[in-house]
Amino acid sequence: MVERPIQIAFCGNPNVGKSTLFNALTGLHQHTGNWPGKTVESSLGIMKAGGETYHLIDLPGTYSLDARSPEETVTRDYICGGAADLIVVVCDGTCLARNLILALQVLQITRRVVVCVNLMDEARKKGISIDLQRLSRLLGVPVLGTEARKRSSVKKLEKCIVDNIFQPASAPVPIDSPVAESQRIAGLVETRTRSFLQERDRKIDRVLTHKIWAYPTMFLLLAVVLWLTIEGANYPSQWLGAFFQTCQTLLRKGLQALHAPWWLSGFLVEGCAATLFRVVSVMLPPMAIFFPLFTLLEDFGYLPRVAFNLDRPFARCGACGKQALTMCMGLGCNASAIVGCRIIDSKRERILAMLTNNFMPCNGRFPLLITLIPLVFVGLPAGNGAMGALILTGFILLGVLMTFLWSKLLSCTLLSGTSAAFVLELPPYRKPEFLHTIVRSILDRTLRILGRAAAVAAPVGGILWILANVFVGGRSLLAWGSVVLEPIGTIFGMDGVILLAFLLALPANEIVLPIALMLYTQGGGLPPEFSPEATRALLLENGWTWVTALCVMTFCLFHFPCSTALLTIKKESGSTKWMVLAAMIPTITGLICCLLIRLGALLF
Ligand code: GDP
Repeated sequence: MVERPIQIAFCGNPNVGKSTLFNALTGLHQHTGNWPGKTVESSLGIMKAGGETYHLIDLPGTYSLDARSPEETVTRDYICGGAADLIVVVCDGTCLARNLILALQVLQITRRVVVCVNLMDEARKKGISIDLQRLSRLLGVPVLGTEARKRSSVKKLEKCIVDNIFQPASAPVPIDSPVAESQRIAGLVETRTRSFLQERDRKIDRVLTHKIWAYPTMFLLLAVVLWLTIEGANYPSQWLGAFFQTCQTLLRKGLQALHAPWWLSGFLVEGCAATLFRVVSVMLPPMAIFFPLFTLLEDFGYLPRVAFNLDRPFARCGACGKQALTMCMGLGCNASAIVGCRIIDSKRERILAMLTNNFMPCNGRFPLLITLIPLVFVGLPAGNGAMGALILTGFILLGVLMTFLWSKLLSCTLLSGTSAAFVLELPPYRKPEFLHTIVRSILDRTLRILGRAAAVAAPVGGILWILANVFVGGRSLLAWGSVVLEPIGTIFGMDGVILLAFLLALPANEIVLPIALMLYTQGGGLPPEFSPEATRALLLENGWTWVTALCVMTFCLFHFPCSTALLTIKKESGSTKWMVLAAMIPTITGLICCLLIRLGALLF
């Protein structure tokens, strides 16, 4: 009778379908994506089968147990620690030889192993056939073939685990006999022809990783994703805004019926609820479009190609090519991207990636940028999605350039050193699982990030309401704040109101514009939903020119990260110093750029 929970560990090379199998067995929904190294820490899930409960551990993907990287160390320590009752080594059927290296290393440590040869469908399509029975005989452990996306395969693996968990471990196999034979893989794997699929991948790669064409293709794909996000988000944002307006009215009436005092109703409805509703209606639609599109690109296998394309410029700046992946993640949410920096092995390069991640504008900053684009580029009709998307793409490229610049600067000074070599596997192009990807990216990414933003929006809204309703000397505290900041704002081409809005929006970038509008309308709470035209009219009324708009857009792109991102940097880097630097670098950059823009405008 086993007292402690039965532990089953999953290990394998990156990108072999380990998370897909693990998720299917446990019902856990950690993110799966088509790029190597995304599982950077182990996760735990529960599988119930045959009346028994099993604890499943998904170990970070690794090529070997040599423990050169953090992932390898976690995996090696766990396996060598002997805590697992069974280890499932997941292998990629399309390149078994390479995957068997890890399997053989694990087999030298323990015999309680099941080898799961996954991606059998892809292997078949590539004309590869594998003699699984022979492999099982050679290795002396059960071997089964699976296609992780198929329910029947998952059931087969579950049964294999249950059948083998209490089997007595067989004696270690002498390394020089079957293991050695399997290392040679004699007659085990047959590849008939170089398949159509390999040819197809090569053809696609000729464009997507081409020395010259790779760059315009990246630009175009980014522009299309942004265009779909901007165009698609317009209407749902308006519907949500109208819906929340009704909710707000109902809340107000409810509190009136309960005879709640004015300040309580104001604090709760005009403060907490209004800010919360605003954040949700502004953030949800673009995120619900951007994340699934992004995940589809990821699932298709494009993201590792981006890292491959950008590896050379990153290396020139002393940074790691994998930083391209964390930058792409930053377009969604900087805080998650900073956690994602764990995929970068060298600490120096990891810190570099964290310090510069904020140069990528997250989803929360898109709405402000999009609203201001027509103010700067006069003559552009409001709501011209395609042009807006192109200009936004240009701004993002500016962020990329700044990332390179600061990476170079930091790697020549504070974080000097040469960039470490890394192995980046380019996975085959895979048809994304559309429905699954869309549902999962909305549930796992969109709602998680939205939840985090909403959790800070409500209390911040309450504080804002107090600041807007406590009057000293005929002015609210909020108005005083903007008066004090006015001279500084003016120096940098902005004004006191917008500067105060940036400071108060530290917990969530998406409330910069609503706070500014609240200050301009001198309201005691967030103003009701403004149309883009009404917003622009209000800003012009308050003395904004194209220079103000350009400076605000620049500062929106280059300013301190939100509080969640800052705390994440502190946690991930283990030091307050890096957190402070991560706030200073973009802010100083932004202020210098704004100053230059203002001086330029004054001169010309
Ligand atoms: P991990 O890095 O090993 O955890 O790999 P994932 O579980 O994230 O899978 C990487 C990609 O391969 C995802 O796009 C999966 O949907 C896909 N995938 C996983 N297993 C299979 C399979 O058996 N067949 C096919 N065609 N795709 C698979």
